[in-house]
Amino acid sequence: MNNWNIPDWLENEILDRDKTCVYCNVIFGSSKESRKTQASWEHIVNDASIITRENIARCCVGCNSSKGIKKLSDWINSSYCKKNGININTVADVIKNALNKNL
Ligand SMILES: [Zn+2]
Repeated sequence: MNNWNIPDWLENEILDRDKTCVYCNVIFGSSKESRKTQASWEHIVNDASIITRENIARCCVGCNSSKGIKKLSDWINSSYCKKNGININTVADVIKNALNKNL
């Protein structure tokens, strides 16, 4: 288990799936680079009790801090997403699926 109570098997599965930010597709940076491109754990629906492969993802610190507690379907229309060219066609499949469910 890590700090988010994500079991090891799920953590490993998601680490294997999300090699880049699920939102902006940036390649995660090392600690020597900008903090914004470092990987972070994301709850797609901002509810820490939903620990499923559909709700847990890896995104960069920049996207995570922009999204915060916003609803995904609201955030995807935010100025941050517009500025960074993030939309339903550019995000990872796990996010597309969530948007299709209007989460
Ligand atoms: Zn990102």
